[in-house]
Amino acid sequence: MDMSFSAEDLAFRDEIRAFINANFPDAVRMNPSEADIKRWHHATYEKGWAAVNWPVEYGGTGWTATRKYFWDRETANAGCPAPSPFGISMLAPILIAYGDDVQREEHLPRILSGERRWCQGYSEPGSGSDLASLRTRAVREGDYYTVNGAKTWISDAHNADWIFALVRTDSTGKKQQGITFLLIDMTTPGISVSPIITMGGSHVVNSVTFEDVKVPTANRIGEENKGWTYAKELLTHERTGLAGVARSKAAFAKLKKISTEQVYEGVSLLADADFRTKLADIEIQLMALEMTELRTLATVATGHAPGPESSILKIKGTEIQQRLTELAIEATAYYAIPFPALTDGLNEPPVGPDYARETSMSYMSQRVATIYGGSSEIQRNVIAKAVLGL
Ligand SMILES: Cc1cc2nc3c(=O)[nH]c(=O)nc-3n(C[C@H](O)[C@H](O)[C@H](O)COP(=O)(O)OP(=O)(O)OC[C@H]3O[C@@H](n4cnc5c(N)ncnc54)[C@H](O)[C@@H]3O)c2cc1C
Repeated sequence: MDMSFSAEDLAFRDEIRAFINANFPDAVRMNPSEADIKRWHHATYEKGWAAVNWPVEYGGTGWTATRKYFWDRETANAGCPAPSPFGISMLAPILIAYGDDVQREEHLPRILSGERRWCQGYSEPGSGSDLASLRTRAVREGDYYTVNGAKTWISDAHNADWIFALVRTDSTGKKQQGITFLLIDMTTPGISVSPIITMGGSHVVNSVTFEDVKVPTANRIGEENKGWTYAKELLTHERTGLAGVARSKAAFAKLKKISTEQVYEGVSLLADADFRTKLADIEIQLMALEMTELRTLATVATGHAPGPESSILKIKGTEIQQRLTELAIEATAYYAIPFPALTDGLNEPPVGPDYARETSMSYMSQRVATIYGGSSEIQRNVIAKAVLGL
């Protein structure tokens, strides 16, 4: 793979930098408010850069893999907030490939503008790794399905306007063959959302229940009982996105800075041979992952879905993210111990440098990365079966 950048590519990188400086300036980066985040997304929308992976005809950029690489890298370095992935990176490619014209016209512009937020209704109690065993039922009656059942661990359901959900429409054959993919308006009567508070004290995930929820058959993607095919393809987009290379590179640069600032008996942590070896090890892994991601992005740029290789990106990407937070804890040492959820509200001044607070938060929140989007064990099963043919 040729990794050199043309003068044109580098000029484009500078254009991205100028755009970021104008629309997400330094002063905002330290502590962006909700309004700042909205303004940033609106600016990307106005510029036509909101959907870097979509084809031009639907409002995407049509960028080459190199241009996407620069966009990811520059926005990660500047700490720009990423858009919610559920609509823009996960559902949109499925709508484009398998939706009908009415569905595309209804949903794609609203995903692009950020006006319609989505969540992903796949997992159920007892059907996480074994997703195809899901039991939420949809019974067809004329132009409607009546949906009953429960989904769990649904990220952002409390903020979402719509949910894309897998439902069972047939229980007679192989479990994968009776699943249908529906788009459901969250304001439909019979839907309730209740929060699940995770150990870090945050509210991200929810239970969603459906009680006699009427969903027009026009909201079905593709064919009835063929939902498993669309669902699996959507997961390859999700897993590619979870690799998070650009953000890990930014976290690595921060870690290096921390290890320069942490000084014991006049010697910085960066000068410690043992810690430097750990940094070198993670940097090499990150470089290897970056090459794999670029290869995948080059495939996607030719109009293909990422394929089961996305499981490799997901495993390595999330393991690296976790390792980076572990090293940040090691670098921050005892200043990382006062965990914000326990110390918030105390009238003592915070101990340690500013980055210490974020260190323990990131460490805790990254524990879930090897579970969501399919656990690492499940990714290994996918690689064994679909990549290695075992
Ligand atoms: C923070 C967070 C956000 C999430 N967001 C969403 C969301 O928005 N939408 C959504 O639909 N889901 C979401 N999920 C659910 C997520 O996809 C599941 O948690 C995940 O697939 C694992 O399923 P489970 O929790 O039922 O665990 P289980 O399937 O019960 O697995 C338990 C353990 O057994 C192992 N295991 C299970 N089967 C096998 C096997 N065949 N071979 C080897 N090991 C196996 C697993 O690796 C795991 O370690 C989220 C989860 C979390 C934690």
